[in-house]
Amino acid sequence: MHQMTLAEIARGLADKKFSSEELTKVLLARITQLDPQLNSFISLTEELALEQAKAADARRANGESGALLGAPIAHKDLFCTQGIRTSCGSKMLDNFKAPYDATVVAKLAAAGAVTLGKTNMDEFAMGSANESSWYGAVKNPWNLEHVPGGSSGGSAAAVAARLLPAATATDTGGSIRQPAAFTNLTGLKPTYGRVSRWGMIAYASSLDQGGPLARTAEDCAILLQGMAGFDQNDSTSIDEPVPDYSASLNTSLQGLRIGVPKEYFSAGLDPRIADLIQNSIKELQKLGAVIKEISLPNMQHAIPAYYVIAPAEASSNLSRFDGVRFGHRCENPENLIDLYKRSRGEGFGPEVQRRIMVGAYALSAGYYDAYYLKAQKIRRLVKNDFMAAFNEVDIILGPTTPNPAWKLGAKNSDPVAAYLEDVYTITANLAGLPGLSMPAGFVDGLPVGVQLLAPYFQEGRLLNVAHQYQLNTDWHTRTPTGF
Ligand code: GLN
Repeated sequence: MHQMTLAEIARGLADKKFSSEELTKVLLARITQLDPQLNSFISLTEELALEQAKAADARRANGESGALLGAPIAHKDLFCTQGIRTSCGSKMLDNFKAPYDATVVAKLAAAGAVTLGKTNMDEFAMGSANESSWYGAVKNPWNLEHVPGGSSGGSAAAVAARLLPAATATDTGGSIRQPAAFTNLTGLKPTYGRVSRWGMIAYASSLDQGGPLARTAEDCAILLQGMAGFDQNDSTSIDEPVPDYSASLNTSLQGLRIGVPKEYFSAGLDPRIADLIQNSIKELQKLGAVIKEISLPNMQHAIPAYYVIAPAEASSNLSRFDGVRFGHRCENPENLIDLYKRSRGEGFGPEVQRRIMVGAYALSAGYYDAYYLKAQKIRRLVKNDFMAAFNEVDIILGPTTPNPAWKLGAKNSDPVAAYLEDVYTITANLAGLPGLSMPAGFVDGLPVGVQLLAPYFQEGRLLNVAHQYQLNTDWHTRTPTGF
């Protein structure tokens, strides 16, 4: 039962082959049995899950239908869930029970999805390895000595290990696409503004975007359908109609113009990944796509720009966690300054503290022009590169990551080494564009992802290309041994 995709579950439920309650029990037992190896969950919500599953079964018995009605999922632990701990992977929020549901959570619940729990993540979504969580590192089901990617590593490891078919995640600089690549999943970061950020604890507000992590493009289409849409509670949400993502999955790729940026194949890319990307290009050519070499000349500046802008926004967003209004409070403070200092010093881990310091420095009066303003100018150049490229091509294709998943601990002493691994993903966040990662093969038994980028609001195109690719390849069907 645990091998089923969301689409298969929807068919099984519609055909009354099993009930949502039965499926939910099977998956909860599987999580209890197998998750100790992975640490992919921070909280399990068994009671809520069974209640939601029974309600979904009752709705179906009353004649209701819908692809998410009775479908088991989990939420990354930065989506607020009413009455349930929402920790953001931090000691700071270990005792925080959200007083309301995030829009994404509420929308999925209304569609009938069943919440099995809250997944582990890098603390405040800062990281690429899921090692900065206060609840401990998450392991990659493909090799338990390797990282699953981050910051949505809990969602990715859980779905990859078939503990559940799909989960929500967020992507500020790659945190949906990179863990998807590291665990053989399909993950989609929507256009900025497509999915509401209301109730999603902010890391860098101008970059954060929620999206689906699942095994197939078909399942990402189903989950995104339930997540996307205008929300008046989020001032950056965009009032654009949500297309039927499943309906466009079978559009032909004949004549599709795919741009391959020459900058992507530089020295930093593992040559074995480069070969797999070439194979995926050939596969898409067989389906009728036309390949064109393009250039994204400002890509080299994107990492430094991102690692100024994201920490700058984080330093501002995280100022609310002061032990007074929100978050962990230290014992016996001597005075107010001592309370702030010790509460924040105890509540935040080292990576979060590093980012707050970098961000506060970049925003300080003396350095604002030299760092923050300059980074914003680079951001515009990165966006302009994409706009020029999309005059010539429909989709941009390349690797999701320069290397496969590294060993746990391998980059702990060198944060910049981890930042450099984000080279292919962060440009889409700087420009606000949608991006998808899908399975493209293996290197030393570890999964490799290919990334597709599209113009604003063309999530349907990304899912269409990925679905056609998946109809003709079987990488996405491979299962990690032991799960
Ligand atoms: N690795 C990037 C960072 O640490 C991206 C994280 C994310 O997308 N949330 O900032």
